[in-house]
Amino acid sequence: MLYRPFGKTDKNVSVISFGGMRFSDPKNLEKSSDLLLYAHHKGINYLDTAPVYCGDRSEDIFGHALRQLPRESFYVSTKSSRANGDDLRKGIERSLQRLGVEQIDFFYIWHLMNQADWEKRKQGGVIEAALQAKEEGLIGHLFCSSHMEGEGLAEVLNEGIFEGVLLGYNALNFPYRRSAVEQAGQQGIGVVTMNPLGGGLIPQNPERFAFLKTETANDVVSAALQFNLSHPDITTALVGFSDTDEVDQAVRAAETFVPYSPEQQQKLLVNIETAFDGLCTGCGYCLPCPVGIPIPKYLDSYNQLILTDGDQQAVLDRYRFHWGITPQQAKQCTRCGDCEERCTQHLPIIQRLAELP
Ligand code: SF4
Ligand code: SF4
Repeated sequence: MLYRPFGKTDKNVSVISFGGMRFSDPKNLEKSSDLLLYAHHKGINYLDTAPVYCGDRSEDIFGHALRQLPRESFYVSTKSSRANGDDLRKGIERSLQRLGVEQIDFFYIWHLMNQADWEKRKQGGVIEAALQAKEEGLIGHLFCSSHMEGEGLAEVLNEGIFEGVLLGYNALNFPYRRSAVEQAGQQGIGVVTMNPLGGGLIPQNPERFAFLKTETANDVVSAALQFNLSHPDITTALVGFSDTDEVDQAVRAAETFVPYSPEQQQKLLVNIETAFDGLCTGCGYCLPCPVGIPIPKYLDSYNQLILTDGDQQAVLDRYRFHWGITPQQAKQCTRCGDCEERCTQHLPIIQRLAELP
């Protein structure tokens, strides 16, 4: 395994991190925690969970596994999306108890959607509550996770509150996320990337993504992971694992890692522009929607219709991947057209929302 310093935190973390959101059988505590232990045995020392993952089972699974490991051999992170300081504090105490640790190494202010959301959380006292918990030693470092587009997130990072950031970055959306990654790098902030495999889109469509492959990464999963790790400001790529084969594949990608050359990166940019004509990249520039539709999630689901030649079940499965989105919400579109004006891919968003099952 390869390790990188995590910003200014004085911690070295594995370049592949374990995301606890894809356990195949989360009701089975032993089987699920064995997968975590297997990944740890393979050298993955950054273990990420959250309340609500896997029907709210993930933190308990982590707790079962972590109690079997020497405390100094892993870093654990969890999160809170609460907008109120008191609720955030209760969440930290609950997570500590479930994880069976005295300190959460990396604690995330979770899922910042946009500037208004960020301001609301600050006004609700979440930063004071988190810093107080840090002062008491209940959390080690304060991070944030966000689905904001690059420049918006860069502004949040500029405020100097966070020591690490978790953001979506992959071969599909990287042109729109680089500014935030680079901003973090300039400030010495560690960067964790989520969805390095495009939320499964890349392994599910190996032919479409074949252009990612390099001489050292001759399967698309390895190539996509190595693409992430090629960015010098990215510390670790977070992968949600379901079985040991997936762990092995990701570990192999780290162990055979050779950075993409500047020429390969340029070739990739050209390929993205041509091969993904018509696909939503998840960049988020279409937001906000005045009636609150999470457009990128629906348009990403619509990608499945294109990639599978119209398989509606694939779209419904993708809704489940995005948790909490429903066919009904897409139908609330008022056709105001704001999003289409902003869409970087010039997609017919209104029409696609209407066509979704
Ligand atoms: S057109 Fe529909 S989806 Fe787009 S911003 Fe307006 S209401 Fe939201
Ligand atoms: S719909 Fe357009 S702007 Fe919105 S996330 Fe997709 S590609 Fe980006």
